[in-house]
Amino acid sequence: MRVEAEPDVCIGAGNCVLSAPEVFDQDEDGIVQVLQAEVPAGQEDAAREAVERCPARALSLG
Ligand code: SF4
Repeated sequence: MRVEAEPDVCIGAGNCVLSAPEVFDQDEDGIVQVLQAEVPAGQEDAAREAVERCPARALSLG
């Protein structure tokens, strides 16, 4: 399972980091950074939750 982020769409809400801190981080401007595009085993549910909770719909699963 892969995850992708669109930094141009991200509004820096940080929900993704709260949901899946091993998969996402934010840069100094609050914009999403994908730490692990290939979601590690055991993190799938967290990554899925992050995608669902992003208010900007900046995240997608691949
Ligand atoms: S939840 Fe969405 S808007 Fe918020 S930081 Fe993550 S990608 Fe950006």
